Amino acid sequence: MLAERQRQQVVDLCVALSRRGYLAGTGGNVALRIDAEQVAVTPSATDYLTMNAADVCVVRLSDLSLIDGERDPSVETGLHAQLLRRRPDVGCSIHTHQPVASACTLLGKALNVTDPQARRVIGSRVPLIGYMPSGTGLLASMVGRAIRPDINAYLMRNHGVLCCSANIDSAVAAVETLESQAHSWLCQGMSAEARIHPERAAILQRVQTALGDLS
Ligand SMILES: [Zn+2]
Repeated sequence: MLAERQRQQVVDLCVALSRRGYLAGTGGNVALRIDAEQVAVTPSATDYLTMNAADVCVVRLSDLSLIDGERDPSVETGLHAQLLRRRPDVGCSIHTHQPVASACTLLGKALNVTDPQARRVIGSRVPLIGYMPSGTGLLASMVGRAIRPDINAYLMRNHGVLCCSANIDSAVAAVETLESQAHSWLCQGMSAEARIHPERAAILQRVQTALGDLS
Protein backbone atom coordinates (compact mmCIF):
# COMPACT_ATOMS: atom_id res chain seq x y z
CA MET A 1 0.00 0.00 0.00
CA LEU A 2 1.32 3.41 -1.01
CA ALA A 3 2.17 5.85 1.82
CA GLU A 4 1.05 3.41 4.51
CA ARG A 5 2.61 5.44 7.33
CA GLN A 6 0.84 8.68 6.37
CA ARG A 7 -2.47 6.86 5.84
CA GLN A 8 -2.25 5.39 9.32
CA GLN A 9 -1.43 8.86 10.66
CA VAL A 10 -4.65 10.14 9.06
CA VAL A 11 -6.60 7.32 10.76
CA ASP A 12 -5.01 8.05 14.15
CA LEU A 13 -5.64 11.78 13.75
CA CYS A 14 -9.34 11.25 12.91
CA VAL A 15 -9.80 8.95 15.91
CA ALA A 16 -8.14 11.50 18.20
CA LEU A 17 -10.26 14.37 16.83
CA SER A 18 -13.45 12.26 17.06
CA ARG A 19 -12.75 11.35 20.69
CA ARG A 20 -12.36 15.05 21.52
CA GLY A 21 -15.73 15.79 19.91
CA TYR A 22 -14.29 17.73 16.97
CA LEU A 23 -15.42 15.30 14.25
CA ALA A 24 -18.94 13.98 14.66
CA GLY A 25 -19.65 10.75 12.71
CA THR A 26 -18.52 11.43 9.16
CA GLY A 27 -18.51 15.25 9.56
CA GLY A 28 -15.18 16.97 8.98
CA ASN A 29 -12.15 15.69 7.10
CA VAL A 30 -8.37 15.98 7.00
CA ALA A 31 -5.53 16.11 4.48
CA LEU A 32 -1.91 15.21 5.12
CA ARG A 33 0.84 16.14 2.66
CA ILE A 34 2.94 13.11 1.67
CA ASP A 35 5.36 14.97 -0.62
CA ALA A 36 5.28 17.85 -3.12
CA GLU A 37 2.78 16.00 -5.33
CA GLN A 38 0.77 13.63 -3.17
CA VAL A 39 -1.70 14.08 -0.35
CA ALA A 40 -3.44 11.55 1.91
CA VAL A 41 -7.11 12.49 2.48
CA THR A 42 -10.00 11.00 4.38
CA PRO A 43 -12.50 9.06 2.29
CA SER A 44 -16.03 10.30 1.73
CA ALA A 45 -18.82 9.19 4.07
CA THR A 46 -16.81 6.82 6.25
CA ASP A 47 -17.15 6.50 10.02
CA TYR A 48 -13.79 7.64 11.35
CA LEU A 49 -13.91 5.32 14.33
CA THR A 50 -14.06 2.23 12.09
CA MET A 51 -11.87 3.51 9.22
CA ASN A 52 -8.50 1.85 8.52
CA ALA A 53 -5.38 2.88 6.59
CA ALA A 54 -6.55 1.18 3.37
CA ASP A 55 -9.67 3.39 3.39
CA VAL A 56 -7.57 6.56 3.24
CA CYS A 57 -7.13 7.97 -0.29
CA VAL A 58 -3.93 9.18 -1.91
CA VAL A 59 -4.57 11.97 -4.44
CA ARG A 60 -2.43 14.13 -6.68
CA LEU A 61 -2.38 17.72 -5.41
CA SER A 62 -2.26 19.30 -8.87
CA ASP A 63 -5.45 17.75 -10.30
CA LEU A 64 -7.00 15.77 -7.40
CA SER A 65 -6.78 12.52 -9.37
CA LEU A 66 -6.85 9.37 -7.25
CA ILE A 67 -3.41 7.71 -7.12
CA ASP A 68 -4.24 4.96 -4.65
CA GLY A 69 -7.29 3.87 -2.68
CA GLU A 70 -10.57 2.11 -3.28
CA ARG A 71 -12.86 4.73 -1.84
CA ASP A 72 -13.90 8.14 -3.08
CA PRO A 73 -11.90 10.99 -1.53
CA SER A 74 -13.72 13.40 0.78
CA VAL A 75 -15.99 15.90 -0.99
CA GLU A 76 -13.87 18.63 0.62
CA THR A 77 -10.62 17.44 -1.00
CA GLY A 78 -10.70 20.50 -3.28
CA LEU A 79 -10.91 22.78 -0.26
CA HIS A 80 -7.83 21.20 1.36
CA ALA A 81 -6.01 21.32 -1.99
CA GLN A 82 -6.62 25.08 -2.29
CA LEU A 83 -4.96 25.51 1.09
CA LEU A 84 -2.05 23.12 0.48
CA ARG A 85 -1.26 24.65 -2.94
CA ARG A 86 -1.14 28.17 -1.51
CA ARG A 87 0.73 27.23 1.67
CA PRO A 88 3.74 25.03 0.88
CA ASP A 89 4.69 25.35 4.58
CA VAL A 90 1.53 23.47 5.59
CA GLY A 91 1.77 19.70 6.06
CA CYS A 92 -1.61 19.05 7.64
CA SER A 93 -5.02 20.60 7.01
CA ILE A 94 -8.05 19.86 9.21
CA HIS A 95 -11.71 20.74 8.58
CA THR A 96 -14.02 20.22 11.54
CA HIS A 97 -17.51 21.02 12.75
CA GLN A 98 -16.12 21.58 16.26
CA PRO A 99 -19.00 22.84 18.42
CA VAL A 100 -18.00 26.22 19.81
CA ALA A 101 -16.05 27.66 16.87
CA SER A 102 -18.76 26.38 14.49
CA ALA A 103 -21.34 28.26 16.60
CA CYS A 104 -19.22 31.39 16.07
CA THR A 105 -19.52 30.96 12.30
CA LEU A 106 -23.26 31.74 12.65
CA LEU A 107 -22.50 35.21 13.99
CA GLY A 108 -21.01 36.42 10.74
CA LYS A 109 -17.85 38.02 12.15
CA ALA A 110 -14.12 37.42 12.05
CA LEU A 111 -12.58 36.57 15.41
CA ASN A 112 -9.79 38.76 16.75
CA VAL A 113 -7.14 36.86 18.68
CA THR A 114 -5.70 38.83 21.57
CA ASP A 115 -3.96 36.12 23.63
CA PRO A 116 -0.22 36.16 22.71
CA GLN A 117 0.20 32.38 22.92
CA ALA A 118 -2.88 31.79 20.76
CA ARG A 119 -1.63 34.36 18.22
CA ARG A 120 1.57 32.36 17.84
CA VAL A 121 -0.46 29.23 17.01
CA ILE A 122 -3.30 30.53 14.80
CA GLY A 123 -2.40 34.13 13.97
CA SER A 124 -3.81 37.49 15.03
CA ARG A 125 -7.20 37.05 13.42
CA VAL A 126 -9.51 34.22 12.36
CA PRO A 127 -11.14 35.37 9.10
CA LEU A 128 -14.74 34.53 8.27
CA ILE A 129 -15.17 32.92 4.85
CA GLY A 130 -18.60 33.49 3.28
CA TYR A 131 -21.14 30.69 2.88
CA MET A 132 -21.13 28.31 -0.06
CA PRO A 133 -22.56 24.77 -0.06
CA SER A 134 -20.30 21.95 1.22
CA GLY A 135 -18.24 20.04 -1.27
CA THR A 136 -18.57 22.60 -4.08
CA GLY A 137 -15.85 24.18 -6.19
CA LEU A 138 -17.34 27.54 -5.22
CA LEU A 139 -16.59 26.90 -1.56
CA ALA A 140 -13.07 25.66 -2.39
CA SER A 141 -12.30 28.80 -4.45
CA MET A 142 -13.67 31.09 -1.78
CA VAL A 143 -11.46 29.35 0.79
CA GLY A 144 -8.49 29.64 -1.57
CA ARG A 145 -8.92 33.40 -1.84
CA ALA A 146 -9.05 33.74 1.95
CA ILE A 147 -5.83 31.85 2.69
CA ARG A 148 -3.06 33.98 4.23
CA PRO A 149 0.52 32.97 5.00
CA ASP A 150 0.32 33.96 8.68
CA ILE A 151 -3.19 32.68 9.51
CA ASN A 152 -3.71 29.05 10.55
CA ALA A 153 -7.44 29.07 11.40
CA TYR A 154 -10.50 30.09 9.36
CA LEU A 155 -14.23 30.21 10.10
CA MET A 156 -16.52 29.00 7.31
CA ARG A 157 -19.86 30.77 7.61
CA ASN A 158 -22.77 28.59 8.87
CA HIS A 159 -20.62 25.48 8.50
CA GLY A 160 -17.40 24.82 10.42
CA VAL A 161 -13.70 25.64 10.49
CA LEU A 162 -10.45 25.02 8.66
CA CYS A 163 -7.16 24.80 10.58
CA CYS A 164 -3.67 24.05 9.35
CA SER A 165 -0.03 23.92 10.30
CA ALA A 166 3.33 22.41 9.42
CA ASN A 167 2.58 19.01 10.96
CA ILE A 168 -0.17 16.98 12.62
CA ASP A 169 0.60 18.01 16.19
CA SER A 170 0.71 21.72 15.44
CA ALA A 171 -2.46 21.48 13.31
CA VAL A 172 -4.26 19.80 16.24
CA ALA A 173 -2.93 22.61 18.47
CA ALA A 174 -4.52 25.10 16.02
CA VAL A 175 -7.87 23.25 16.27
CA GLU A 176 -7.73 23.30 20.08
CA THR A 177 -6.54 26.91 20.28
CA LEU A 178 -9.31 28.05 17.96
CA GLU A 179 -11.92 26.24 20.07
CA SER A 180 -10.71 27.81 23.31
CA GLN A 181 -10.46 31.28 21.72
CA ALA A 182 -13.98 30.90 20.31
CA HIS A 183 -15.15 29.93 23.81
CA SER A 184 -13.65 33.04 25.44
CA TRP A 185 -14.90 35.23 22.61
CA LEU A 186 -18.49 33.99 23.00
CA CYS A 187 -18.34 34.31 26.81
CA GLN A 188 -17.00 37.87 26.58
CA GLY A 189 -19.79 38.74 24.14
CA MET A 190 -22.40 37.31 26.48
CA SER A 191 -20.98 39.14 29.53
CA ALA A 192 -21.11 42.41 27.58
CA GLU A 193 -24.68 41.64 26.52
CA ALA A 194 -25.67 40.91 30.15
CA ARG A 195 -24.26 44.28 31.27
CA ILE A 196 -26.32 46.10 28.65
CA HIS A 197 -29.45 43.97 29.19
CA PRO A 198 -29.52 42.80 32.85
CA GLU A 199 -32.91 41.13 32.25
CA ARG A 200 -31.10 38.63 29.99
CA ALA A 201 -28.34 37.87 32.49
CA ALA A 202 -29.89 34.65 33.84
CA ILE A 203 -30.33 33.01 30.42
CA LEU A 204 -26.88 34.18 29.28
CA GLN A 205 -25.38 32.65 32.42
CA ARG A 206 -27.05 29.33 31.59
CA VAL A 207 -25.61 29.43 28.04
CA GLN A 208 -22.14 30.14 29.43
CA THR A 209 -22.45 27.18 31.79
CA ALA A 210 -23.51 24.93 28.88
CA LEU A 211 -20.53 26.18 26.83
CA GLY A 212 -18.24 25.36 29.75
CA ASP A 213 -19.55 21.78 29.68
CA LEU A 214 -18.51 21.49 26.02
CA SER A 215 -14.88 22.42 26.65
ZN1 LIG B 1 -17.95 20.33 6.75
